[in-house]
Amino acid sequence: MPRAAKVAVSDATIHYDKLYTYRVPAALEGRVFAGSMVLVPFGRGNRPRMAVVLELADAEEDPRLKSLLDAAPEDARLTPHLLELVRFLQERTFCTWFEAVKAVIPYGAQYCPGTKDGRPVLKNRLAQPKVAVYTLAAPLPEKPKPGPRQQAAVAALQAGPRTRQELLAMGIGRATLDTLCHKGVLRAQERAATQDLLADLPFDPQPLVLSPAQRAACDALLGDLRAGAPRAALLYGVTGSGKTAVFEELIAQTLAMGRKALVLVPEIGLTPQMLRRLKARFGSRLAVQHSRLSNTERLIQWRTIQRGDADIVVGTRSAVFAPLSNIGLIVIDEEQEHTYQSEASPRYAAHDIAKKRAAQENALLVFSSATPRTETCYAAKTGRIRLVELNERYGGRPLPGVDFIDMRAELTAGNPREVSARLVEELARNLQRGEQSILLLNRRGYHTVGMCAVCGQVLKCPNCSVPMVYHKPRHALLCHHCGHQVCPPPAACPACGGRMVYSGFGTQKVEEELGALLPTARILRMDQDSTGQKNAHAQMLGRFARREYDILLGTQMVAKGLDFDNVTLVGVLGIDSLLFGQGFRAYENVFSLITQVVGRGGRADLPGRALIQTTVPGHPVLRLAAAQDYAAFYNEEIAFRKYGLYPPFCAFCVVGFSGEKEADALFAARRFAALLAHNAAQDKTLPLRILGPVPMNIALLAGRYRFKLTLKCRGDAAFRALLRAALAAYEAEKLPAKAAVTVDFNSDGDL
Ligand code: ADP
Ligand code: ZN
Repeated sequence: MPRAAKVAVSDATIHYDKLYTYRVPAALEGRVFAGSMVLVPFGRGNRPRMAVVLELADAEEDPRLKSLLDAAPEDARLTPHLLELVRFLQERTFCTWFEAVKAVIPYGAQYCPGTKDGRPVLKNRLAQPKVAVYTLAAPLPEKPKPGPRQQAAVAALQAGPRTRQELLAMGIGRATLDTLCHKGVLRAQERAATQDLLADLPFDPQPLVLSPAQRAACDALLGDLRAGAPRAALLYGVTGSGKTAVFEELIAQTLAMGRKALVLVPEIGLTPQMLRRLKARFGSRLAVQHSRLSNTERLIQWRTIQRGDADIVVGTRSAVFAPLSNIGLIVIDEEQEHTYQSEASPRYAAHDIAKKRAAQENALLVFSSATPRTETCYAAKTGRIRLVELNERYGGRPLPGVDFIDMRAELTAGNPREVSARLVEELARNLQRGEQSILLLNRRGYHTVGMCAVCGQVLKCPNCSVPMVYHKPRHALLCHHCGHQVCPPPAACPACGGRMVYSGFGTQKVEEELGALLPTARILRMDQDSTGQKNAHAQMLGRFARREYDILLGTQMVAKGLDFDNVTLVGVLGIDSLLFGQGFRAYENVFSLITQVVGRGGRADLPGRALIQTTVPGHPVLRLAAAQDYAAFYNEEIAFRKYGLYPPFCAFCVVGFSGEKEADALFAARRFAALLAHNAAQDKTLPLRILGPVPMNIALLAGRYRFKLTLKCRGDAAFRALLRAALAAYEAEKLPAKAAVTVDFNSDGDL
């Protein structure tokens, strides 16, 4: 019986994103598997298109069945586990099949259509990087007398094979090597390139003695690790309690069992620090996956993992798809971070993928945090996952003392600046003592608002409904959402000609103020604008660690996870706008951000202190964050979630609609709501609340009008089936032509 392949094709809109059946031609017999990348003739014109095989079946005797054109080599195939993740993504996040495939395979490892001898074939997106390796094959003949270069080449290879690059570095040229190969003295071979991105990091294992609290936490988790039953746990520990040491120990045990470990960090900026620690302890069998690697670097790392040559993988969200097998342990560090949720299709949460992988591999999954997500803590408190706690800082170091600075009083006292007198005083004191400070201001740019003094109009982006931000180095207004630029910034109001007044402050302005107030201070500003260059992040943090700067000023990238022993003062500026931000996680985010940044201080022998500038010093969330009282915060928050019906008490799904015409987008949203409500009415057992449609927080983005529906529902298969049916009905009415639809189960209220 001939075989058939059921495939998902690339670039499908949800509209025709179903599985298509193709015959496996005799020429490809035995080379096509579930998970294979293939090329298929698609549509009426039979244009070649990329596809992935979801399953194989027996082919029916249908003469209309088209045949596959080509198949990628077997090493490009998705393993059964990864293919299962593709299915999981498609089912849970409502993405297309191929969006799921692209999330699982990095760009460099993907294929694209090409031609060979006029026939359509698959082609690597990226040439697999290869290196030439030379080996000694025969003794060097004495006649004719070999030259000194030839002798040097042979001498260099006595100890074993070397790459062309290494030989070139020794002054042995290509011509010499070619001559020797020609004589049969050397043999040249091509080998897949490997690359030690971590070569500069020392391998320097230090004995790590766990404190009794760390030992107890570790032991509580080791049982689950050894049992090999898929279990999840929350490792809750205050900042500086030494959570990293606990999971280092778990990694050691995992490797000792012959299994592998996957460690996720929330930001690229935290990978160097984690790599340094793990390399020092475990050596080079370590691979990295994150989006700042070049496509080639990423591919080489990915292949290394796929070949089984890495025992530990460190990376950001997307590393959760690393082709690692035999996983014994997955760690999600700082699990509360929103960066673990993807904000483009497929809109997944790394947590859910990690759970799935832990189940596939019978691995232990550890969520680590000083301020866990309310949902995670609830799961731990209700026994769905194990709860393990570290209640004190390592070495009994005290948590930093926190004080508030009332910025209303500061204004009344006549200080027009953004940095309060008290904070400047403390910064000066640190400067004198040679201690370092970290300042958090979660806004980049210089001025954040431009407003007409006469008509009151705010300068907004023409494509987006947000104010333009003034960037001093470029002397331009920038839209932080679509990149639109106005240079120079208008001095007069475009509407009435009145005088424009620029106000509000971002990191650039504070940097300037500090420079004037503390002329001797060496200030390092870290935000999206100053870290654009590759490796800028790591280099800046490295320089701060070497004490080349006194003050590190930055957006939330300076708040999290960093461990510097000379930091004793932490300042928080401009936090209030976050406090009054929208979304049901606003309080949780502020609590976590303050706790995290305050926790950066006093981590070693010197005690730390923190100052929070605010206009609402009495705000309960700020009070609780200052007291670092997570337990009390959690109690308040869980009560609010229950009362207001938010996760974990329901699933929360935002469906977004965007279109070029406002009326179309609104109409589509209304119609979809009606379709969904109609379907839901058929099944009274399914609880569902539909809120909206209302405009999104950013009602106009990059020229598209945006509306949203908020669904409070059950996060189960029955609800997903209902939603799928409504989407199908929406498609059938051809509404998608008017408004694109987006489904997000991880949103905190907006898209
Ligand atoms: P957390 O991740 O909980 O905020 P870390 O793991 O970064 O805390 O530990 C805080 C500090 O204490 C670090 O500087 C770390 O090197 C130190 N530390 C933690 N545990 C140990 C240990 N067992 N031995 C020596 N130093 C430790
Ligand atoms: Zn814009």
